[in-house]
Amino acid sequence: MSYDIEKPDEQWRAELNPAEYAVLRKAGTEPAFTGEYTDTKTKGVYSCRACGAELFTSTEKFESHCGWPSFYDPKESDAVELIADRSHGMVRTEVRCARCGSHLGHVFEGEGYATPTDQRYCINSVSLRLTPDEK
Ligand SMILES: [Zn+2]
Repeated sequence: MSYDIEKPDEQWRAELNPAEYAVLRKAGTEPAFTGEYTDTKTKGVYSCRACGAELFTSTEKFESHCGWPSFYDPKESDAVELIADRSHGMVRTEVRCARCGSHLGHVFEGEGYATPTDQRYCINSVSLRLTPDEK
């Protein structure tokens, strides 16, 4: 698997803070209800905190009450990469940044949320950087 942006592990470790590194590069998960964007309603674009690629927008963000920022669709379907994840004894679908391969979260579907896709991209706040729309 190759990405447009690839860096040695020590470079990622130097550029990201420990919390960002643990999630983006080691597929960690921030504790529920602690992320800075969990309840954010600000209009804008959410970019990858590792490489800056635009991934999600506030238009597709919805209140899932699950403890992490939730989106029903990415900004562009090829902005993210979906990978089968069988870790932790579960079968889930991992969501990665398609440009740098960093871990963002997981996507779930068929949960019954009243959204156009019935999908929930459950994304760690620490993987994202919000750029508010200009007023
Ligand atoms: Zn990225």
